[in-house]
Amino acid sequence: MKINIAIDGPSAAGKSTIADLLAKKFHLTHLDTGAMYRCCAFAADQQGISLTDEAALSELVKHLDIRFDDNKQVYIGDKNVSVEIRNNDISMAASKVSAFAGVRKALVAMQQEIAEEKGYILDGRDIGTVVLPDADVKIYMVASVEARAKRRFNEYVQKGISADYDTICQDIVQRDYQDTHRKESPLKQAEDAIAVDTSNLTIDEVVEKISMIITDTCG
Ligand code: C5P
Repeated sequence: MKINIAIDGPSAAGKSTIADLLAKKFHLTHLDTGAMYRCCAFAADQQGISLTDEAALSELVKHLDIRFDDNKQVYIGDKNVSVEIRNNDISMAASKVSAFAGVRKALVAMQQEIAEEKGYILDGRDIGTVVLPDADVKIYMVASVEARAKRRFNEYVQKGISADYDTICQDIVQRDYQDTHRKESPLKQAEDAIAVDTSNLTIDEVVEKISMIITDTCG
């Protein structure tokens, strides 16, 4: 199916998991745009670039060779960074670097180029509003802070990443604030996006609900 789907929403709402499952179901390619901001934050850390140095970060991202493979692995050049970019420090750092216009401009251009041919499902914060304003289906996924923190905690435990529930909760609240209050492309629901609250739904129920929206919209 040659359509593009945009999924936006706050951190840990389950966007990436759901986008993955929908991609398989509708034979689309999933692009996790959050991973790209995470790669920028990770590379900045590795190169000793300050998270407040907008000029250096904007230059860094222009030359960042971010790659994905078919097994959900993320690379910078040849280095597999899939695990490192998921830790809590990088989550916070990604939220900080993503506030800069220069960083966003470069990553948005990469995302638009990738999705140009259609057949993609992108998840992020600004997909329906900025990256793909003409997406065929736009979903805005939300969930309570408690539901999101619980999911993220379980995800970390499963992956063997050390985690503290209260810290995760605080970080989610802080990231929500940063993502919705920044000047550049703040997180907000596109006017033509359909909101889906996942707080009390299982993964299968969310997939089912969004699948119905996709089928109703695209036939
Ligand atoms: O989705 P994920 O939690 O991996 O994203 C990490 C951070 O990257 C978010 O907190 C957000 O600040 C930023 N981001 C963004 N725009 C996107 C995707 C992610 O600003 N399209």
